[in-house]
Amino acid sequence: MKWHCASYEFDTRMPILMGILNVTPDSFSDGGLYQDRKSAIAHAQNMVGQGAQIIDVGGESTRPGSKAVPAEEELARVIDVVGELARDGICVSIDTRHATVASACVEAGASIINDVSGFEDPALIDLATRSETGLVVMHMQGEPETMQEDPHYGDVVTEVRDYLRARASALEAAGVSPGRICVDPGPGFGKTFQHTLELTRNLHEFVRLGYPVMAALSRKGYLGHAYRLEGPQDRDEASATEALKACELGAGVIRTHNIACTAKALEDLRPYALLGLGCNIAAESYPGGGREGKVAQLNNAVSLLCTLPDSQLIDLSGFYESEPAYLEDQEPFVNAVALLRTGLPPKDLLTCLHVIENSLGRVRTVENGPRTCDIDILDYQQYVVDTERLTLPHPRIAERDFVVKPLLEIRPGHILANDEPVTVTQVRLGKARRI
Ligand code: ADP
Ligand code: MG
Repeated sequence: MKWHCASYEFDTRMPILMGILNVTPDSFSDGGLYQDRKSAIAHAQNMVGQGAQIIDVGGESTRPGSKAVPAEEELARVIDVVGELARDGICVSIDTRHATVASACVEAGASIINDVSGFEDPALIDLATRSETGLVVMHMQGEPETMQEDPHYGDVVTEVRDYLRARASALEAAGVSPGRICVDPGPGFGKTFQHTLELTRNLHEFVRLGYPVMAALSRKGYLGHAYRLEGPQDRDEASATEALKACELGAGVIRTHNIACTAKALEDLRPYALLGLGCNIAAESYPGGGREGKVAQLNNAVSLLCTLPDSQLIDLSGFYESEPAYLEDQEPFVNAVALLRTGLPPKDLLTCLHVIENSLGRVRTVENGPRTCDIDILDYQQYVVDTERLTLPHPRIAERDFVVKPLLEIRPGHILANDEPVTVTQVRLGKARRI
């Protein structure tokens, strides 16, 4: 997925690191450290040297219990630093709730506006429509000063996701192009530790919105709780571990204090593989056959995918019933798409998938004919190949409704390893309907 931020374009298929630069006297973990311009610039340059692609400059602490800072004071803290970093060729994000601050910083060269209040201020929406900056839309319940007093939700994941979808839609309705938007569930902002854990463990639900997802977990209180770590300064390793988990679930941007530590942890990020599953012969335990039997068979396949070594099932589309393609005189199919993170190299993965197909009674008699189970590799991260045994990305994704629909359900806006986007425009067979 691409994220457009003024003159920068980020490819979030590999996570983008955003380094935090707090030019404040009172931020929760590093307040006062980078207040003077010289040390702020030096710290930013240091983070860039360690792999940060964006520097997020903030002049107002929004930690729990913090008081709002007058916009003039906030602006005075950040403006010179923003201007200098931008002139140095660094992609600068301005972390602010104030339209006047955002406006002056964009003028000074900032390429991203990061608003913890979710672009609810009409003046910020207006500014967004008048620029080409990236926009980080965050969810917060309440205001920083009181947000941690009594956070409450029915289903926190659904509520936060629906909120972000609505805010992104409002920006789009105002004329902002969707490719500029990044969403942030706002861990710790009006959330108990349990709420924040729930959000971070279900980040794939946010990826399904179709915008890059930011994971801003660094040094937050829930880590202290979950990993039993007292001070925010002691939480960098845990933050990096959580960043890795977030990226496996599909986070595209990591906002962090410690770039070196995060970059190190992300070396362990496994590639993703998108798998297409299909069947039109029912499981043996369903002698009557029919749709339920085919669904049961796909569920068997999914269970077996969960047993693959060094692999994790990240997301699974709904099940779709589809018209048979290529060879039309046969039973309808049931299809789904699964997203896996895997340490298995592509060819080994293919071998494992054949073993699963065989164990589910796959017989290969007629080409494109009836099958108990077919599992194809649709796309494998950063891997393009064309041999007799394996072609990647799968050459017939674009024409197949039964692939495109479920794939876009779990990864809207997905771009294949050969840089082709997955779209509905070339679909011509295997019409699919979600069941
Ligand atoms: P189908 O084309 O209906 O999936 P098969 O599952 O029998 O038929 O696959 C035929 C062959 O296609 C397999 O033996 C496999 O080696 C090859 N193949 C090439 N590229 C891929 C891919 N991306 N995913 C799965 N199989 C592939
Ligand atoms: Mg196959």
